[in-house]
Amino acid sequence: MMDIRTLLHRTTRELAAGGSPSPRLDAEVLLMNFLKTDRLQLCVHPEKELTNEECEGLSLWIDRRRRGEPVAYITGGKEFWSLLFEVNRDVLIPRPETECLVEEVLRYYGRGAGHPRIIDIGTGSGAIGVALAAELPGADIVATDISPGALAVARRNADRHGVAGRMAFLEGHLFAASVGEFDVIVSNPPYIPDDVYPLLPEGIRAFEPREALLAGPDGTAFHREIIREGADRLKPDGRIFLEIGEGQKGLVESLFEEEGCYADICFRNDYGGMERVATARKKT
Ligand code: SAM
Ligand code: GLN
Repeated sequence: MMDIRTLLHRTTRELAAGGSPSPRLDAEVLLMNFLKTDRLQLCVHPEKELTNEECEGLSLWIDRRRRGEPVAYITGGKEFWSLLFEVNRDVLIPRPETECLVEEVLRYYGRGAGHPRIIDIGTGSGAIGVALAAELPGADIVATDISPGALAVARRNADRHGVAGRMAFLEGHLFAASVGEFDVIVSNPPYIPDDVYPLLPEGIRAFEPREALLAGPDGTAFHREIIREGADRLKPDGRIFLEIGEGQKGLVESLFEEEGCYADICFRNDYGGMERVATARKKT
């Protein structure tokens, strides 16, 4: 038996010793999820005792975190766009900066009562496609991924949030499994350059899928193909929204310009001040 206050102190110390950069937060999130409760309850009832069985179960989770596994894979969930997404090791854990991509799409399409046809390429957990489906009740969304494991997770997330009826999940390379033209192309493709990948934190490299991140010598291999094929797959006046990585603005801008069919090419920063979203409109 051990009470919550003691357990939180001990876990925080253990995780700090294991090298976690956010030991107290990790300890709280693990404990909250393990007990299926919220932070308020942990604060209000620090004297609550956990049984020996509960302590043993929790210590398995703590060991996983000490070995560097991201908290979201241990708890099986991650919040994105204020929605809880199931995640497992078949999918990239959705990043907060990717919410900027959703915000940009909604800046153009959020107010209309129309029926945009949207493709989310490399949907992973379904974060982008499901968030857009939840915000745009008139939208039809095709979500594609090369990974069948990821598509299974994305489907369950669409079900969980009640939008599966307006989404289709297709396995294949970029646009390959889809047909027809789209009003919106949105993607957070892999964009880590090959020589940067070995420099990523160990927790990412050891646990998140490589194929969700690696993207050729300069990291724009997927942007290049999406922009090129997008020229044929966007309706006139349709828009493309792509997440980009550090230092990729100039390269991606040239890729749009080379096609000749794009106008209004613009970029926006994320809340950390990094250039993060590229947008362009297909000329009419
Ligand atoms: N959209 C999710 C998000 O923002 O959290 C996941 C983005 S993750 C950076 C990139 C995704 O692209 C992964 O799910 C990966 O499986 C998928 N992917 C990689 N190569 C692909 C390809 N050739 N065609 C389609 N999807 C691909
Ligand atoms: N932002 C992610 C990371 O730093 C990379 C996502 C991507 O390649 N699209 O791990």
